[in-house]
Amino acid sequence: MTTKTHAPMDQFSSDKGELMIAGKTVSQVVQITGQTPCYVYDKSVIKANVDRLRHYFPDISLHYAMKANPYAPLLCYLSDLVDGLDVASGMELGLALSTSTDAHNISFAGPGKSIKELTMALASGITINVESKTELKRIAELSEKLDCNASIAMRLNPDFELKSSGMKMGGGAQQFGIDVEQFSDLLELLQHPNLELRGLHIFTGSQNLRPESIISAHNNIFALVARLIEQYDIKLTHINIGGGFGIPYFPGDTPLELEPIAENLKKLRQEYSDYLNNCEIILELGRYLVGNAGVYLCEVTDIKISRGKQFLITNGGLHHHLAASGNFGQVIRKNYPLAVATKMDATELETVDVVGPLCTPLDILGSNMNLPKAEVGDIIAVYQSGAYGFSASPRDFLSHPHPTQLLL
Ligand SMILES: *Cc1c(COP(=O)(O)O)cnc(C)c1O
Repeated sequence: MTTKTHAPMDQFSSDKGELMIAGKTVSQVVQITGQTPCYVYDKSVIKANVDRLRHYFPDISLHYAMKANPYAPLLCYLSDLVDGLDVASGMELGLALSTSTDAHNISFAGPGKSIKELTMALASGITINVESKTELKRIAELSEKLDCNASIAMRLNPDFELKSSGMKMGGGAQQFGIDVEQFSDLLELLQHPNLELRGLHIFTGSQNLRPESIISAHNNIFALVARLIEQYDIKLTHINIGGGFGIPYFPGDTPLELEPIAENLKKLRQEYSDYLNNCEIILELGRYLVGNAGVYLCEVTDIKISRGKQFLITNGGLHHHLAASGNFGQVIRKNYPLAVATKMDATELETVDVVGPLCTPLDILGSNMNLPKAEVGDIIAVYQSGAYGFSASPRDFLSHPHPTQLLL
């Protein structure tokens, strides 16, 4: 049987047997964080991600979907590099407003926004991505009460799907967006004098590594938007085509090729130029911007053999990094890429399970992995941990100490 290996995590190098993060050895990094477990995010990797996107998509706006990682220092750093922020709660909106981003370039998506959240959005002048007819009515009423204009974009649930996505968020029956077939029901409401329809928002899914699936979704999105513009004679200043760009996590995954996606978008913009003149096209990305820039570091605290199977027990696990344990939306548990970050040059490998300290069999960071022979005190690095890590984990489950975070 051949075992598939992980894609090389070549965003980080190693030196004298230690993993290097932001020009420092992992031991130095842990001296700076003061403890394991911790999440460390490397600015230069984030910058390289943005540069790569700018290279391939020079005339497309880049937004950061901050639910991927709302850590304030990282958010501030990234907000200076991208064109806008997408928030999904009132609390995220507050954070976004504290960055250098202009309210004009902040959008707020998510079903079930509260009156308080809608008020925050209207008072700050950001764009609301409207998720239902009820929400549209509430926004119209609130804008009258507050005597302000409401900048809105309609989030559409399209009549197609993004194929091969880690998580589907469009097509079929969805709690997100308004079914395209129902768009005509909104036209009367949209005439409200306080409502300014600025754009359309179509987000079809997440974690996609197949250019052909993303290309097909883009083709469908442009065709749909052109159809709506023509049919209803609407004027738009922007179209948010979502994101969905994936990063390699599991054995057999390879990095997403951007070139074919960029070529296709260029073609689409020409093809639909009659409809999209002066229309800003927005890509909103979370994971792709920050996922590979973060590592989660924990320490081996015990090593034991049980009936022939070797366990590395660490002080980190599911409570800090739910996704790496396989319990964040994965159907079949697969290993995130891991390294013994203090033994990068070791050639002698052994097969181990890397587990955490929680009293539950779900607390697994790596199962049957070939790793360098580790000792108590060695540092384990979980790669691809910059998105949906710290903020997406149940830190109080079993009441262990929390990890720290650091941007370097
Ligand atoms: C979560 C989300 C994103 C980001 O998805 P990634 O897979 O992290 O890129 C973008 N847009 C919306 C509306 C989202 O809910």
